[in-house]
Amino acid sequence: MSAATLPNLVDELRGVVGFDGVLAAHADLVVYECDGFVIEKNCPDVVVFPRTSQQVADIVRLANKHGVPFVPRGAGTSLAGGCLPVGGGVMIVLTRMKAIEEINLRDRYAIVQPGVVNAWLNQALKGTGYHYAPDPSSQGACTIGGNVATNSGGPHTLKYGVTVNHVLGVEAVLPDGRIVQVGGPTEDSAGLDLVGAIVGSEGTLAIVTKAWVRLTRDPEGCRTMLGVYDSVDDASNTISEIIGAGIIPAALEMMDQGILVAVEQAFNFGFPLDAQAILLIEVDGVEAGLDAQRDRIIELCKKCGAREVRQAKDAAERLLLWKCRKQAFGAVGRLSPSYCTQDGVVPRTKLPHISRRIREIGEKYSVRIVNVFHAGDGNIHPILLFDERDPEQIMRVLAASTEILDECINCGGSVTGEHGIGVEKIGFMHKMFTIEDIDAMERLRMAFNPDGRLSPCKMLPTAGACGMEQNGKPHEKAIVQIRPGRRAAL
Ligand SMILES: Cc1cc2nc3c(=O)[nH]c(=O)nc-3n(C[C@H](O)[C@H](O)[C@H](O)COP(=O)(O)OP(=O)(O)OC[C@H]3O[C@@H](n4cnc5c(N)ncnc54)[C@H](O)[C@@H]3O)c2cc1C
Repeated sequence: MSAATLPNLVDELRGVVGFDGVLAAHADLVVYECDGFVIEKNCPDVVVFPRTSQQVADIVRLANKHGVPFVPRGAGTSLAGGCLPVGGGVMIVLTRMKAIEEINLRDRYAIVQPGVVNAWLNQALKGTGYHYAPDPSSQGACTIGGNVATNSGGPHTLKYGVTVNHVLGVEAVLPDGRIVQVGGPTEDSAGLDLVGAIVGSEGTLAIVTKAWVRLTRDPEGCRTMLGVYDSVDDASNTISEIIGAGIIPAALEMMDQGILVAVEQAFNFGFPLDAQAILLIEVDGVEAGLDAQRDRIIELCKKCGAREVRQAKDAAERLLLWKCRKQAFGAVGRLSPSYCTQDGVVPRTKLPHISRRIREIGEKYSVRIVNVFHAGDGNIHPILLFDERDPEQIMRVLAASTEILDECINCGGSVTGEHGIGVEKIGFMHKMFTIEDIDAMERLRMAFNPDGRLSPCKMLPTAGACGMEQNGKPHEKAIVQIRPGRRAAL
């Protein structure tokens, strides 16, 4: 942004949200130069904190007036660089829009503003007999707006589905500043499914300013088990056996030895430190039948080589087990100064293969990798450990990440199960989709975001994004990617 434009824009933004709603000093802006994906960084020119939908619309109009890009941000826990402010511009942080506007138990929905932290909604619902089902492991920090934008999943996705299955409608500010509502409190809306288009669009179509979310009845009961294994293969095979037996657990999570040790040091649950893998398995639903499912699962775990299967003996132990799993990423801080979490998907039966390949790739690039899998979905989260101050380590981490994600594609999977493409994985889009597929997506984006000012250079590797160039021959579509920001230490 030109030095002449910025002071005017900052003044005008202060006119919209007040003096305390704008950050423009470099020392303040540095906090917003990246999200949970720490490898690529770029400072916004100004950060603004609206409190109402109208303020969001006014901010968008000002950014358009000055011809600068703008990017929405929730809690900044994106692991794919979704809220990296490519090209600088205005960052619109929605965390002050944090009201739960309505909880309607009779019609089973809640209306929330985008800055509501995922876990707050369930705290508010405690004791009502209902809950909000999408439960990303980051739920203590991430916002519902961010969940909607990335179509988040979580450990209970296997049975309950991802965010799109729980969003009935959204109010959103379009890139030209108009406020629209698509969907609403009722289950079925007529017309094109624009809610489905906005959910998972990674902030490239519109800025979500309100969401109508479905509430789910609490299950009558649950059984939570921990299978302990001497081999990752045995744990992986158990997953296919359980699902092959016709049981759909509410959650089926795997942690390997590397992460187990970090989690144990952090929480002292009593995990055996010599185990090569553990499976966290939960079934839920009506009480009748849960014991039978539990017994069958224990039988299958043992058949596949589990050396021990423990059961959470009470609600407190279950909560501790889930705390260990959900704080696993946090525990990684004990292992290295920085980490990069990958988010591939493979068919479930390929889990033993991909686990082996991850091990080989880690050795090839001398990168230590620990693993957490939403194994029931075939969703893998290899966590690559490094020190972001060392450029050479970053290069190895990037090369190893690419090789792991390429392998997921080769297995018939995808490069993202839930974290999205962001800026991190744009380079993989042409490996997963044909030019025609990408063109169709680009046309949809152009319909919403014709000037490309809302969150440029995210998700789609096409000429519409400011960081991409085509070679001028549409039938060849050779796409040259310009890196959006500086790389950590490079
Ligand atoms: C420790 C850890 C564990 C995680 N576990 C999971 C997991 O289990 N499952 C999972 O799916 N993800 C997980 N994530 C990734 C991340 O938490 C989710 O993608 C989350 O939904 C991001 O929410 P946020 O509020 O932090 O959004 P941000 O990181 O602020 O933004 C994410 C994207 O959404 C856009 N955006 C944010 N708010 C809006 C809005 N109101 N309107 C339009 N666009 C918007 C941003 O521009 C960006 O593209 C994890 C991350 C961490 C750090």
